[in-house]
Amino acid sequence: MAARVIDGKGVAAKVRERVRREVAALATPPGLATILVGEDPASEIYVRMKREDSAEVGIESFHHEPGGDVSQEDLAALIEALNADERVHGILLQLPLPDHLDQDRLIALIDPAKDVDGLTPLNAGLLAQDRPEAIVPCTPSGVMELLREANVELEGARAVLVGRSILVGKPLAALLLAANATVTHCHSRTRDLGSVCREAEVLIAAAGRPDLITVDMVREGATVIDVGTNKVDGRLVGDVDFESVRERAGAITPVPGGVGPMTRAMLLVNTLAAARGRV
Ligand code: NAD
Repeated sequence: MAARVIDGKGVAAKVRERVRREVAALATPPGLATILVGEDPASEIYVRMKREDSAEVGIESFHHEPGGDVSQEDLAALIEALNADERVHGILLQLPLPDHLDQDRLIALIDPAKDVDGLTPLNAGLLAQDRPEAIVPCTPSGVMELLREANVELEGARAVLVGRSILVGKPLAALLLAANATVTHCHSRTRDLGSVCREAEVLIAAAGRPDLITVDMVREGATVIDVGTNKVDGRLVGDVDFESVRERAGAITPVPGGVGPMTRAMLLVNTLAAARGRV
C-alpha cells in the first residue's frame, strides 16, 4: 500500500494561523530584521518569502540590503545596531554570505535573544544541553512539529538521520535524542549507508543529494522525512526517490510541500517567542 503523504503545507498553515492569533493579542507587534547581502537569486527569493510570511501574521519586518561589497566592519555595525533596536526581536542574516565576509564571526555577534535562526554558539550549546530556552533552528524544529502532527512515535524508536550540518543535521539529532529516539547519525563518510538506513523506523534525509535514498534502503512501513531541496533540470526535488519509496514507506513527506513550508512557519514561531522574551 502506498505511504501516507505528510502534508507540510497544511501543518504550516495551522502553525501560521496560531502565530497570527497570538501576535494579534500582543500590545506591540514582533519585529523581524532581515539582512540580505549580495545578489544570490535563491537568497533573494527566500528573504522575500520570509517577509511576506511575516506580514501575513502581523510581524513587522525591517529589511536591510547593505550591498554585496559591504565590509565586515560595516555589517558588524549593522548587526550591533539591530541588537540595540527595541522594535527588532529577531535578526535573520541570510546565508551564505559572500566569500570576503567571516560568516561565523558575524553570526556570533547576533544577540542570542534575537537569534531566530538558532545559529549562535550560545543557542547551539543550550540545545546540546537540552535547555528549554534554546532558540532552535527552524528546519529541525519544523521536522519535529511535522512528526508530532503526523503522530509518529519517537519514544524508543530507531531514527536514522543522514546529514550532519550545523543548520540541520546536528540540531535535529539533538531534538530526536531529547524525544527519546535511538539515533544513528550518518554522513558522507558512512560506510554502507543502505544497510544503516534499512534499520530505520524513522528515516530523515538532509544531505542535499537527489535520489540518495532509494527504495531498497527503506524499511517497510518506515516514516521518511525528506529535508533535501535540490534543483534537477529546473525542478525542485528532495533526497528521496519519492515515487518508489512511497510504495514501501508508511508515511513520507513530499518535496515541495513537506519540510520547506515548515521551515518558513517556524521562523514566525521563533520570532514570536523572541518577542515574548524567552531567552
Ligand atoms: P550541507 O551541505 O551543509 O550538509 C550536507 C550533509 O549531508 C553533510 O553533513 C554531509 O556529510 C552529508 N552528505 C552529503 N552527501 C552524502 C552522501 N552521499 N551520503 C551521506 N551523507 C551525505 O547541507 P544542509 O545545509 O544541511 O542542507 C541539506 C539539504 O537540506 C540541502 O538539500 C538543503 O538545500 C536542504 N535544506 C532544506 C531546507 C528546507 O526548508 N526544506 C532547509 C535547510 C536545508
